[in-house]
Amino acid sequence: MGYVKKAYRKIFDEIDNRTELPKGWDKFVKEKAKTQNLIIKHGKNKCTCTCCNNTFLCKKKIGQEAKCPNCHGKYEIKRSNLRYHDFKDYLSILEYIDDTFIIRYFELKTIIDRNHKPHTSAVEFAREIVTDDYYRKVYINDRVAKCQCHIYIYHHDSWNIDVRNWRLYTRNYSLIDNAMVFPNNIKGILKNTEYKYSYIWELVKHLGYVHLPEIVKNTDLFGRIEILTKMGLYNLALKAKEFYGENNFLQLFGVSKEFYPFMKKYNITNRQLKILRLLQEKDINKIRYLEKFCSYWDGTQNIEGVAKYVNLNKFIKYAKKHRGKIDISIYKDYLKFAFALGLDLKNNKYAFPENLKVEHDKLEKQYEIHENELINKAIENRSKLLSINNYKDNKFIIFPAKNMEALQDESKQQKNCVRTYAEDYANGESDIYFMRKVDNPEKSLVTVEVKKNRVVQSRTKHNKKPNKIQIKFLDKWEKEVLGKVA
Ligand SMILES: [Zn+2]
Repeated sequence: MGYVKKAYRKIFDEIDNRTELPKGWDKFVKEKAKTQNLIIKHGKNKCTCTCCNNTFLCKKKIGQEAKCPNCHGKYEIKRSNLRYHDFKDYLSILEYIDDTFIIRYFELKTIIDRNHKPHTSAVEFAREIVTDDYYRKVYINDRVAKCQCHIYIYHHDSWNIDVRNWRLYTRNYSLIDNAMVFPNNIKGILKNTEYKYSYIWELVKHLGYVHLPEIVKNTDLFGRIEILTKMGLYNLALKAKEFYGENNFLQLFGVSKEFYPFMKKYNITNRQLKILRLLQEKDINKIRYLEKFCSYWDGTQNIEGVAKYVNLNKFIKYAKKHRGKIDISIYKDYLKFAFALGLDLKNNKYAFPENLKVEHDKLEKQYEIHENELINKAIENRSKLLSINNYKDNKFIIFPAKNMEALQDESKQQKNCVRTYAEDYANGESDIYFMRKVDNPEKSLVTVEVKKNRVVQSRTKHNKKPNKIQIKFLDKWEKEVLGKVA
């Protein structure tokens, strides 16, 4: 546990010395706490809402969600023998003191007791100083329990809990990432600062959980956040970094302006926008369906790979036919192979194979052979070109590797890895020559790599260096033959 830096101590004291939380906070907490309730089913269809204590009839089953007709809350239905249930949510307050952004974190907890009464409390347990550092500066107080396996936050007040005892949180796993941000005070704290136009207060109002440090860390993005927030594109405002420079709608978002009402209506995310660019259709269901084929981190890469070769609407049909069980990364590779091998992807038989895995494996093999063929051909051509460098004296002879087979043979005889140079050789990045004895030209002796008419590597069996006589021959060859070409 680290101590609190003097400057931060001053900020923390300033906050601790206040007698009240910002105006509107209680209402905000109450609103969020309202979502932390249940519907208790006792007897046939008879239900009671823990939020407003209203009893009503409902045919829905345990585990499903039902709407209370009195308070209109939507809650999960639980059995009446329930003895304990708790809900936890995280709330945050943004502060700006001494040109520093501070985030205060609160845990909002509701316990539903054995009488099915809710007990709610919100307590502050962490503060974060927002810095440019890679490591976050999060401080905790005594409410955070020092438990090895999980984090527990005490809600009761007792003599040994000092809520002003702030110290640096030093474990390497994150204590808190996302929280629901209290919006009301933000405009006020930024009023007389250069960030008065940031519009963060408006942005957080329209979003649930957000990673606030990321937003306030990038103060240079505030202008863009303002624009996107004013446009009602709140989820895109969170990714403000990706939208810059252009004033033209099409250039900025990659879709034409006719999509704007649609984007706004569904508050689309950046990932959904990426799919929209490919799909070019105002259909949120299709977009959501395609999202199922996105991986958590790399996002839409696979879909982009597929869209290169087939219409996404056809892909959706194909995936639905297989009840969504299409491995998109395999399919993407399949299409790549099929295209390279010249299969007609306009033909559904090739574009949407019945048994993807089998067809994929089949084409992959063909593709590899095809690839080797191309490399081999390139090596043969290169070898012909390089044969002007053939050279011999009364003892040794040197000539370029004439094809893939020759490379494989050399690598087998010499027990080295010259085979892996095949691609470089084919591309003309480096040349491979075999130096052998005049009276035994089939047997490997020295493998030579040449780049730009200079010997860069020469190796005998097991990657050993050639002897003096062999090197002398190579030097002479380099000078008299390769040197002349250059
Ligand atoms: Zn109710």
